[in-house]
Amino acid sequence: MSLQKEINRRRTFGIVSHPDAGKTTLTEKLLLYGGAIQEAGAVKSNKIKKGAASDFMEIERQRGISVATSVLAFEYNDTKINILDTPGHKDFAEDTFRTLTAVDSVIVVVDVAKGVEEQTEKLVEVCRMRNIPMIVFINKMDREGKDAFDLLDEIEQKLQLTVTPLSFPIGMGYDLKGIYNLFEKNIRLFTGESSKDINKTTSIDDLNDTALDNLIGAESAQTLREELEMVEGIYPEFNEKDYLDVKLQPVFYGSALHNFGVKELLDAFIKIAPTPRPKNAEERLVNPKEKDFSGFVFKIHANMDPKHRDRLAFVKIVSGTFERNKPYKHVRLDKNLKFSSPNAFFAEKKEIVDVSYPGDIVGLHDTGNFKIGDTLTSGEILHYKGIPSFSPEHFRYINNADPMKAKQLAKGIDQLMDEGVAQLFTLELNGRKVIGTVGALQFEVIQYRLEHEYGAKCSYENLNVHKACWMDTKDWKSEEFLDFKRVKSKFLAKDKQGQLVFLADSAFSLQMTQQKYPSIKFHFVSEFE
Ligand code: GDP
Repeated sequence: MSLQKEINRRRTFGIVSHPDAGKTTLTEKLLLYGGAIQEAGAVKSNKIKKGAASDFMEIERQRGISVATSVLAFEYNDTKINILDTPGHKDFAEDTFRTLTAVDSVIVVVDVAKGVEEQTEKLVEVCRMRNIPMIVFINKMDREGKDAFDLLDEIEQKLQLTVTPLSFPIGMGYDLKGIYNLFEKNIRLFTGESSKDINKTTSIDDLNDTALDNLIGAESAQTLREELEMVEGIYPEFNEKDYLDVKLQPVFYGSALHNFGVKELLDAFIKIAPTPRPKNAEERLVNPKEKDFSGFVFKIHANMDPKHRDRLAFVKIVSGTFERNKPYKHVRLDKNLKFSSPNAFFAEKKEIVDVSYPGDIVGLHDTGNFKIGDTLTSGEILHYKGIPSFSPEHFRYINNADPMKAKQLAKGIDQLMDEGVAQLFTLELNGRKVIGTVGALQFEVIQYRLEHEYGAKCSYENLNVHKACWMDTKDWKSEEFLDFKRVKSKFLAKDKQGQLVFLADSAFSLQMTQQKYPSIKFHFVSEFE
């Protein structure tokens, strides 16, 4: 098949939601349609369970599961679908942000009763900033929840989206009768069981037809007619271009648990969701249909088996084809590498694959060559943009607690940072190492993994840092900048890429610094335009 055809039939996306909205359940139902799994319960939740024996052991357990769920791929109606897993827990927000650099679109799951929750807001904001097309799925319609129109209002306001429903519920909770598909103009009745007969719908060409009254009862039919009239009056007509330009977000209703409304979502999704999109490298915009291969590492999984130094680097293919045993250029290291057993992902299995196409994810076995953000190409020098580091929330000095194991400690820290578990800052003044994390639990995870995977021991020491700021100034040699460096020398550090970072100890001191040095811009992200 030609490259163009393979590109056209690929959809690579992520499902984002606040924990518990139903992401895992929806993923599982989507896989059932692809025939990729046979039964419910096959997809393990990547959630951190509250009250587990020890929270950080729970994170380790989760890490094991998330290797299996990192990429779930399946075929449906001749479409190759790749679902990239995004942790919902806020301590893993950075992981999710990085994964969002590798998706071409997202489905946002909202719980009908809880409405828009905190993590949903954050994730949607990132998608909006990154211009990622979004579809909203309102889940748990089998339960009492918010009124359909109120919820659409809430989504528009809290998530700053412009929505238009493509399916509409007929009742909800105990009274859920079905959903009307505005895209296909048909009705699917809700039976309460997980619909096995997924193709059973009733076409309604004319809403005024009395057939509708017979189907759902006169009262519900009248309500539906009125509601659909309101939908038409209030919401813009769906058009694909606005959706792809992130100006319009279609909304679907359903119940993932009952596999209800999921087919409507999936069928519309494969029709409208974007095929692999062009991506910006520092050098130029790269189009998927270019024949030369290029891709980037967005995730690294390491040491699942502590006895082997096994790392799996996840590469999103941006352009061309990736072939087994062909040499590719690792741009940062300026060296050619060959991969004899690249993994492709199918549902829960991984398999060695000979050729992969744009939109696909390949897992490459790695002995320490890769960092998140690395680019691989057929030879061209390209650096893909868009995997920034965000300022951590928690900072601590890391000390060596076993002088005999200094080397192991250094190596362990280095590799865990490559994996993106946390960020390392080295103080300019004295070379002391500071670890920054998004969640406090990560410190325990790092300590545990250093000991179990590298045989090294560390201890932490508190350090008062409010935010890490990356800086930008027109003239790095100006009097003002040199003065800043002198006065703030105690608070300056280098990140792992060697970029200078200001570790502000409080919001107040950051504000004072900004006022005193107006020619320096301070950012909470490591990459800026
Ligand atoms: P995640 O944290 O977003 O992955 O959420 P899960 O898929 O694990 O779902 C959280 C809980 O909500 C589980 O107990 C599910 O069984 C339940 N759930 C998911 N979808 C539905 C639904 O459509 N209706 C109802 N009543 N419960 C649901």
